[in-house]
Amino acid sequence: MFNRIPLSSSMTEVEKILEKPLFTKDDLIHLLISSGKDRLALFEKAKKTKADYLGKKVYFRGLIEYSNYCKKNCYYCGIRAGNNHFARYRMSDEEVLEAVQYAWENNYASIVIQAGEQTNKPYISKIESLLKRIYIQTKGQIHVTLSLGEQSEDTYKRWLDAGAHRYLLRIEVSSMDLYKKLHPDNRAHDYQQRLEALRTLRKTGYQVGTGVMIGLPFQTIPDLADDLIFFRDFDIDMAGMGPYIEHADTPLYKFRDSLLPLLERFDLSLKMVAILRIMMKNINIAATTAMQTIDKQGREKALMVGANVIMPNLTPVKYRQDYLLYENKPCLDEDAQECKSCLEARIHIAGDVIGYGEWGDSQHFSDRKPGGN
Ligand code: SAH
Ligand code: SF4
Repeated sequence: MFNRIPLSSSMTEVEKILEKPLFTKDDLIHLLISSGKDRLALFEKAKKTKADYLGKKVYFRGLIEYSNYCKKNCYYCGIRAGNNHFARYRMSDEEVLEAVQYAWENNYASIVIQAGEQTNKPYISKIESLLKRIYIQTKGQIHVTLSLGEQSEDTYKRWLDAGAHRYLLRIEVSSMDLYKKLHPDNRAHDYQQRLEALRTLRKTGYQVGTGVMIGLPFQTIPDLADDLIFFRDFDIDMAGMGPYIEHADTPLYKFRDSLLPLLERFDLSLKMVAILRIMMKNINIAATTAMQTIDKQGREKALMVGANVIMPNLTPVKYRQDYLLYENKPCLDEDAQECKSCLEARIHIAGDVIGYGEWGDSQHFSDRKPGGN
């Protein structure tokens, strides 16, 4: 009964932290700046946590970058309304349904529809009708994640009723002060409103995912520790985090000389994934495309330290050049089939298996007591 291994005095500070059931902010800072043997101990623990709680399954979410029209002007984003150096597009219904059909026939079981933010009535109805058509076409067998920004409670409800299941809305940074530095100062870019949107999504019944960018101008290691605490306190079901990558046509570009080198941003992102996996054992964590932008094997590396979701791109190749949230996005010329074959091999190398035909819902969401959210 009392067979716990005593903590040896030769253990490093980080190794002792990794044994704790709950991390403090100081602990998180130590983990985020760990290096050498300590860093490897963190990755090892995250890998074991994933294996113990979720096994080796990795779930595919076919990513459909539906439209690059956006009414907002986030200072970091390449498709912000103020950037007119590229063509705006919206996929036709047929193009969306074709991508969905591809996902369905290839047993993906799940798709993500992402776009810039629009809130006009015709757009809301368009998404609603698309969701209904997807439901009919796939006999309700495809689970849909939306990533369409901040919307009203009524809109979130309509889309849920029309067939959506999950929603991704990154808080971007959990510090209100930092949020203000990265967005224009107006109602459309209000930190409290974004937080409220996350609460509304939870209340409406979605599996809720959020996340942050890592390595932004002005962002500190304590800020990232606070982000992790935010995820725990909010009790999120899913996370999508990745390195910030500068884009020349954005206001933040002028701070590029103050940024961490790309490889350090990548390493910090890996650590964020690993720590979050240890903190929240049964949530879904995505190996994001931005990680692959910095390191060709970035997503596989994320899978090896705790991520369990990957998003093969199903956007028609002709639109990809125009959905550049950041520069050097990978796979701009790979169609869905090439993308799939490449990923299968990569996941295999990472030692995982693909959960084809499985929805791969957040176990955390299912484990939450009814009414307890
Ligand atoms: N408009 C929606 C969804 C599309 S943007 C929304 O904002 O929620 C999806 C994500 O891209 C954003 O949440 C942001 O975290 C990320 N992103 C935008 N610009 C980026 C950049 N320069 N580097 C890395 N990620 C970026
Ligand atoms: Fe629009 Fe999203 Fe980019 Fe902000 S991050 S400008 S809301 S697409």
